[in-house]
Amino acid sequence: MADGTRTTEVLIIGGGIIGLTIALRLRRSNVPVIVLEKGEPGRGASFAAAGLIAPKFEPETEPFARLAIASRDRYRDYCEELRQLTGVNPEYRDEGTIMPLLDDEEETYANGIIESAGDSVPLKTLSRKNILDLEPDLSPEVRRGIFIPGDHQVNNRKLLQALIAAVQKLGGDIRPNTPARAIRVEAGRVSRVESDKDTYTPRHVVLAAGCWSHQVEIDDPSLSPPTRPVKGQMVAVQMTPPVTLTRNIHSPRCYIVPRVDGRADIGATVEEVGFDTEVSSEAVDKLLAAARSVVPGLRQSPVIETWAGLRPGSPDSHPIVGKTPVEGLIMATGNYRSGLLMAPITGELVTELILTGQTPELLRPFSPGRFTDTAGSESG
Ligand SMILES: Cc1cc2nc3c(=O)[nH]c(=O)nc-3n(C[C@H](O)[C@H](O)[C@H](O)COP(=O)(O)OP(=O)(O)OC[C@H]3O[C@@H](n4cnc5c(N)ncnc54)[C@H](O)[C@@H]3O)c2cc1C
Repeated sequence: MADGTRTTEVLIIGGGIIGLTIALRLRRSNVPVIVLEKGEPGRGASFAAAGLIAPKFEPETEPFARLAIASRDRYRDYCEELRQLTGVNPEYRDEGTIMPLLDDEEETYANGIIESAGDSVPLKTLSRKNILDLEPDLSPEVRRGIFIPGDHQVNNRKLLQALIAAVQKLGGDIRPNTPARAIRVEAGRVSRVESDKDTYTPRHVVLAAGCWSHQVEIDDPSLSPPTRPVKGQMVAVQMTPPVTLTRNIHSPRCYIVPRVDGRADIGATVEEVGFDTEVSSEAVDKLLAAARSVVPGLRQSPVIETWAGLRPGSPDSHPIVGKTPVEGLIMATGNYRSGLLMAPITGELVTELILTGQTPELLRPFSPGRFTDTAGSESG
């Protein structure tokens, strides 16, 4: 039962990287913000992610590439802003990404990537010698490779730590252990949001609850975003001398993301198994075997962590961001494998949408209405 009514300008449902980055941008514009988080903020998919800021390895549609590159281009400043606000360094690294190719099948796969590469994310093909000069720890069986200088990385856990502190420092009200249950609609506009304890009466609601977004009840169920969980398991090892990777290794077998402290995150499975977050020994074995086949020296590395997270999948693997036919209700979800990458541009453009009432051009292809008959009703 509700025991209080709170009002605010914007209520954000979900304290992941998407909801919190929107909160950050809104607070920069002095907009009052409350973030409802069902558990601890920053512990959903955003915590489980690998930290790749990699437009090249995500779906290659034109609108997606434009949004992804715009977001990647903001990442350095975004991390620097967070570092200056909080003293926590999100460890943004731009040494680029390497794809080593070890057999015929991988060479064929890479040829497809090279042929389809547009100008937006430049690639460079590397001879065997070139690739081993860049990363000497790669398998001696490597034949050649691809270098993607524009695919970067960030320490997502440090980023989240900084982001939470930054939002709070700027006056954002983050409420942990406060699940939103229902979004009530009256006369075509959002009237209130109900949690277990309180009722909120904001002017705008942003639904940014990741893979759980469809579980928040909306009076008109046809507006519920078609999100689903897509499980990803990962394993981390501590690199031991002489292994010292610098760049992201994105093999067709697995990816390896080396951190500044010598940790290397290896991922990831892609599984349609609902809300299960168990880690299986089989998945860990497969990831480690794949990583060792690419970087044999990892054989000596101790395993320091295993985990699983739930990506917010959408029917076309593209984000679901923008206005709905209900006045005041905005979606910012469905970022599937690219939510870290997309956070800076999403925060900026959703804030612009709230402040101006107009949908920014870059966001138009990602309208929530594209999955329903109301597609044409999105305006402005
Ligand atoms: C293994 C793995 C590796 C990945 N690697 C990368 C990568 O390298 N690069 C990249 O860009 N992306 C990557 N991703 C994808 C990325 O993690 C997600 O797209 C991104 O984190 C989504 O952010 P979000 O804020 O929408 O969701 P989340 O981080 O899941 O946050 C949603 C939040 O909403 C809260 N919530 C849910 N329901 C409610 C409710 N009713 N009321 C209040 N709060 C609620 C949840 O508790 C959660 O904190 C990876 C994902 C996984 C699982």
